[in-house]
Amino acid sequence: MTDDGPPQDDTGAERKMRFLFALRSHGVTDTRVLNAMERIDRGTFVRGVFSDRAYEDMPLPISCGQTISQPSVVALMTQALDVTSRDKVLEVGTGSGYQAAILSLLCRRVYTVDRHRRLVREAQEIFRNLGLVNITAFAADGSFGLLEQAPFDRILVTAAAEDPPGPLLAQLKIGGIMVLPVGQSDAVQSLIKVTRLQSGYDYEELRPVRFVPLVEGLGTE
Ligand code: SAH
Repeated sequence: MTDDGPPQDDTGAERKMRFLFALRSHGVTDTRVLNAMERIDRGTFVRGVFSDRAYEDMPLPISCGQTISQPSVVALMTQALDVTSRDKVLEVGTGSGYQAAILSLLCRRVYTVDRHRRLVREAQEIFRNLGLVNITAFAADGSFGLLEQAPFDRILVTAAAEDPPGPLLAQLKIGGIMVLPVGQSDAVQSLIKVTRLQSGYDYEELRPVRFVPLVEGLGTE
């Protein structure tokens, strides 16, 4: 008899527990966020050789030289965004689609854009397979926002700009929240939370992070 290790289900359940435990230990306390992250399987969004590492708390490579963010960072960003079920949310940087899928369980509607058409196509296929019908994904330069659907209750940017892009600030509703990494691509970046007030904006620095840069224009793939 060969020892094949524990049955697949045990391994899956154990991995899931460790995954959720890691999120909690990073200060993720919002049960809605934890529930959404329990329901959306990160393994679905990671392909090929890295799929084995989908439940580890680390960023991983995806197509087009991009990365799927670290789960604890996804959770902390989602928590900071303070999404409600009535919200219309814009995500800039679809990437694998993982973050958009989590948001889709927490809000009314998600618009997500990426400069790489291939990433958008691949993410759309996953959204269809998972039945996540409240996500619309586009290939576009997200630094200009999405004027046709503006204003937004919440905006989440998952690529780093030097400063918050003006069009995104302008497309945020009064009382709305935007969470984004700012700073130079290879230097230290900060995750910040911007709240649009009656007049002006409030800026709060959350933590140091490292994201791929927000790049102008559409990609070639
Ligand atoms: N949120 C993703 C991770 C994003 S990685 C996930 O859950 O997997 C950052 C993404 O931002 C990359 O896919 C990159 O192509 C995209 N990006 C960079 N600059 C952009 C821009 N100007 N407009 C739209 N997308 C951009």
